[in-house]
Amino acid sequence: MTPPIIFPPDADGAAMNEMQRESQWPMVSVAAAQQAIAAMSATPLGSESILTHHGAGRILAHPIHAHTDIPAEPRATVDGYAVRSSDGTMPRQVVAELTAGDGQQLVLAPGTAVRIMTGAPLPVGADAAIMVERTREQAGILTFDGNVRAGECVLPVASDMRHGELVIPAGAVLSAGDVGLLASMGLKHISVFRRPVVAVLSTGDEVYEYDEPIPFGGVRDANRHALLAAVHAAGCEGISLGIARDDQALQRMKIREGLTRADVLITSGGVSMGTRDYIKPLLAELGTVHFGRIAFKPGKPTMCASVGQHIMFGLPGNPVSSLVSFEVFVRPALRRLQGDPHPHRPQVHVTLADPITPSPDRPEYQRAIVRWHDGQLVASTTGPQGSSRLLSLRAANALLIIEPGTQPLATGSQVEALLVGDVR
Ligand code: AMP
Ligand code: MG
Repeated sequence: MTPPIIFPPDADGAAMNEMQRESQWPMVSVAAAQQAIAAMSATPLGSESILTHHGAGRILAHPIHAHTDIPAEPRATVDGYAVRSSDGTMPRQVVAELTAGDGQQLVLAPGTAVRIMTGAPLPVGADAAIMVERTREQAGILTFDGNVRAGECVLPVASDMRHGELVIPAGAVLSAGDVGLLASMGLKHISVFRRPVVAVLSTGDEVYEYDEPIPFGGVRDANRHALLAAVHAAGCEGISLGIARDDQALQRMKIREGLTRADVLITSGGVSMGTRDYIKPLLAELGTVHFGRIAFKPGKPTMCASVGQHIMFGLPGNPVSSLVSFEVFVRPALRRLQGDPHPHRPQVHVTLADPITPSPDRPEYQRAIVRWHDGQLVASTTGPQGSSRLLSLRAANALLIIEPGTQPLATGSQVEALLVGDVR
């Protein structure tokens, strides 16, 4: 067998860093970490004016009130005849035709009717429309089956929207329907909260771009791409700061660059007990640390610090840990900074389809696939939950919140889960 090679210390004496055996950072609970982050991100970043048709998914910064009645005049809801209900069932003389959008404003004399199409304003004096299916028109005379009631088949003034009413409150996440509503009100521009700009840095001597050849011991950079995708999905603008080797000066420079270009900085890797884990001391040097470890799995070494209005997250290097920590701690901050009053994912009760072994000492956020089955939400595990195994996130739409314990949870047990994707 070839004997191992033992190298002498580096010539300049900067041989090896001391190995630390205990973290200097106290462990905080998930709730305490979330509270600290909520306090830091409580104030939205500011607002901007955008085109209404770019508004889907954006968060409204100012409430929208109706500035007119819609409709402004009573309109027909059917194709048929506009009539005066007080004429009763007697035959009417048909005097004109009104189509939607023809702009005619007529006055309807007693004993007469006009043909009217859906959406056309009623003539003055008319108070009902009779649907064409119930009518006959012969030699200009209208007759119909049954009675006619005042208000029949008429959309009254302001029935869709009343002048002055609150239409969309500030903080609403705009849907396609909201965009249509705003357009129907003639609003070309709307005021929405600014999207946070988030810079993402990967660290590690062993970390390479996915299109580079990787040497012995190397890994491809999954985290930066996954985190940038998650940043975009959270409604933010992402900036890539690339990959920084485990060199303190270089990482300091990259973090500073991130702070000048972005509202929020996210790093991954370099936050554990390794001799070349520099991120924690750097975040402590450049800002105020709010916590440096969380009683949480996966992602215990997660750190959060801030400088001025900027928030910095030092996430772990293991790809699953970094994404799960993002979900639980970073995403709510990004939603708050863009004015979302409901920054958390929905938390629901689910029934386990597989048994689950809890972590003995920390709450664990296990990845699962939740489906609607027989009137309940049922969770299947995504398999082994190792923090390097990105496959445990494949198709996962839920994080099961598994409290620490020594007893396995049996199939059929109820647990709480964060829904992080669509239920299919
Ligand atoms: P660290 O937190 O730097 O000690 O890294 C923990 C583990 O995550 C190591 O196995 C790293 O190789 C791996 N890792 C760190 N950064 C990345 C990354 N950007 N993409 C994929 N794996 C990574
Ligand atoms: Mg590392």
